[in-house]
Amino acid sequence: MTRKFTGTRLLVATHNQGKLEEIADLLTPFGVEVVGAKEMNLPEPVEDGSTFVENARIKAHAAAKATGLPAMSDDSGIEIDALDKAPGVYTADWAETGSGRDFVMAMTRSHDLLVERGAPAPWTARFCCTLVLAWPDGHDEVFPGVMEGQVVWPMRGDQGHGYDPIFQPDGYDITFGEMDRWEKNRISHRADAFRKFVAGCFDA
Ligand code: IMP
Repeated sequence: MTRKFTGTRLLVATHNQGKLEEIADLLTPFGVEVVGAKEMNLPEPVEDGSTFVENARIKAHAAAKATGLPAMSDDSGIEIDALDKAPGVYTADWAETGSGRDFVMAMTRSHDLLVERGAPAPWTARFCCTLVLAWPDGHDEVFPGVMEGQVVWPMRGDQGHGYDPIFQPDGYDITFGEMDRWEKNRISHRADAFRKFVAGCFDA
């Protein structure tokens, strides 16, 4: 049985303002006040897990322990089948330059590796998002979300962020980079995980 969220304050263990606002909007109908990690002066823990679930658990439990509040975190990335599911948990790391993130470099690296390996198209891939809600007593609930699709080349579209220009979701002939924000947020891996979280932890 999934434990329900019955409190009124939820800590969201992210320093990303966009993510915080997205989650706050989602939880407004349930009368939940969302508090950010920055507001609580929480340090960013080292994400040294080897799966999305491990990393999301590290962040959520550290935040719940430090504040005494139920805490939610997410971890996300892209898995490319022909690259043995890389970059996976290292999705953001592939864009790291030492002086900021360069996603054109990361997407080019993904494409170059596919070509080097002689991987036949379609280059199937998926975006994953794992949400974890952890309570101060150590209990947690895990909600995995996915969006299946394929890597395409060249990059297309300037909407969105990260690897969006090379990801074409199943059922569409445009990339996430070409897709209207509203439409992407409706079908994305994050939306999938959020839906499961709301269905599991809140009474309708
Ligand atoms: P994190 O979950 O904040 O650790 O971010 C993981 C990385 O995955 C981000 O830096 C993005 O590069 C990538 N990513 C996650 N979701 C998306 C998405 O919806 N579009 C494009 N890139 C994404």
